[in-house]
Amino acid sequence: MGKIKKILVANRGEIALRIMRSAKEMGIQTVAVFSDADRTMPFVRYADEAVAIGAAPSSASYLVMEKIIAAAKQTGADAIHPGYGFLSERESFAEQVKKSGLTFIGPGAAAIKILGNKIAAKETAKKLKVPLVPGTEHAISDMSEAEIEATRIGFPVLLKAAAGGGGKGMRIVEKKEELATQFERATSEALSAFGDGSVFIEKYIASPRHIEIQVLADTHGNSVYLFERECSIQRRHQKLIEEAPSPVMTESLRKKMGESAVALAKASGYVNAGTVEFLVDEKMNYYFLEMNTRLQVEHPVTELITGIDIVKEQIKIAQGEKLSFTQNDLQINGHAIELRVNAEDPYEQFLPNVGKLSVYRKPSGPGVRVDDGYEEGMEIPIYYDPMISKLITYGQNRDEAISRMERAIAEYQITGVKSTLEFGKWVMGHEQFRNGETNTKFIEQYFSPEHLSIPSDDEMEAAAIVAAMIVANGKKNHVNNNEQPATTSSRWKKNRLNIEL
Ligand code: ADP
Ligand code: ADP
Ligand code: MG
Repeated sequence: MGKIKKILVANRGEIALRIMRSAKEMGIQTVAVFSDADRTMPFVRYADEAVAIGAAPSSASYLVMEKIIAAAKQTGADAIHPGYGFLSERESFAEQVKKSGLTFIGPGAAAIKILGNKIAAKETAKKLKVPLVPGTEHAISDMSEAEIEATRIGFPVLLKAAAGGGGKGMRIVEKKEELATQFERATSEALSAFGDGSVFIEKYIASPRHIEIQVLADTHGNSVYLFERECSIQRRHQKLIEEAPSPVMTESLRKKMGESAVALAKASGYVNAGTVEFLVDEKMNYYFLEMNTRLQVEHPVTELITGIDIVKEQIKIAQGEKLSFTQNDLQINGHAIELRVNAEDPYEQFLPNVGKLSVYRKPSGPGVRVDDGYEEGMEIPIYYDPMISKLITYGQNRDEAISRMERAIAEYQITGVKSTLEFGKWVMGHEQFRNGETNTKFIEQYFSPEHLSIPSDDEMEAAAIVAAMIVANGKKNHVNNNEQPATTSSRWKKNRLNIEL
């Protein structure tokens, strides 16, 4: 250990840039690694040095440990920050980095092994008497066992890949008849996506909230929790909107969940930043879900309400420094909300909609933070996550954070790709959301693309036909009235296309 002088960031896009910014403030040099698709990205220019590591597919670049470690050696970096996704939760990467004489900015390989596997993590949580989602305590080996266990737990159940992540590797089974097919699919999917076919079963909790606790632990045995984030607005089991604090949290539950999270980290010898995820039911019972042994996408909302730069803390911990604060020093100030601005089409089940950012103008002003990785005119590559940016707003209270989010969304201009901006606007205006009545079924329950004030492709096409007809009619009758066919700008302003023939 000792002072870090140069960090290689083994990641791309917004998170690479965000990590480099904290390093820069600490006077630490940075190295970017980039694939062929990312040559012109802002994070590559921002870094003091940059090393090309291969072709666009992540399997040829961002996932190749040897190339990344070689780049660190070549540039004289003394530490590697893995960001999130990619190699961040591979114990073998943490191990290889250490073996190469470099500092891994994250937990040790042993802790990743215990906590990165959902079954092993639940076992540890159970020993600590942290409440668990009811389910099997080991991987299910065959169909007959699956049937016995699922019947014992009670349908609906969720089949989960032990090594799963990012909302992938989960299948809901409503009834016994579906079990065989789903079990087979889950197993083969887990194997192909995560290289580990282990699947276990959990009770499928109806409409829970997703509430998680941010933890920091140093190498001297000190650990704290930086309170909670609520991430209940999800699609496909993936978060779209996160906030801190949770609108339903009470002081006593916060303390209980916070202490459970810290106990879990301590029991596993966890060091650095990590997040313990829980489901919370209507009766405010909480259940341990999993631990993410890395920096989380939504960490900025915690930074805004605590005033702590989590990446700086990660670096200081990796340098062997003691945490400079105790639990009692920490307090929540105000409220923060994050919207993941993804290149996805809300009309098409939020499927990726990559392309060129022909117009890209970001919002600013009081209480607005944009963590992004692209610039106007750039292509969003198909090879990686379709996230364009994270739009984060802060206010003295939740209402102010919400109105700032609405204002920031109105200022944000993105054309060329479809994004989740309009969806975010709809959520902010929704009565249930404003009342803090959220759960993981929110989108399923309330959302329909018709609520958005942007037209779908079909409507655009219909509008174009109508416009052409109006023009044709006008010519035929030599009428010169003032009615104009819908223009792009009026289409965006109108709530719905409303053209009459
Ligand atoms: P967070 O857990 O930080 O809230 P996500 O669940 O969206 O955010 O995951 C963060 C990123 O990591 C996403 O890019 C996701 O696709 C990716 N990811 C997470 N876990 C895995 C995994 N086990 N394998 C592959 N990608 C993963
Ligand atoms: P990942 O590793 O993909 O993040 P998680 O176990 O954290 O997987 O679950 C992701 C999301 O899936 C949760 O936030 C929640 O919405 C849903 N989920 C997971 N387990 C359950 C469950 N047992 N019952 C209901 N929903 C669940
Ligand atoms: Mg999770």
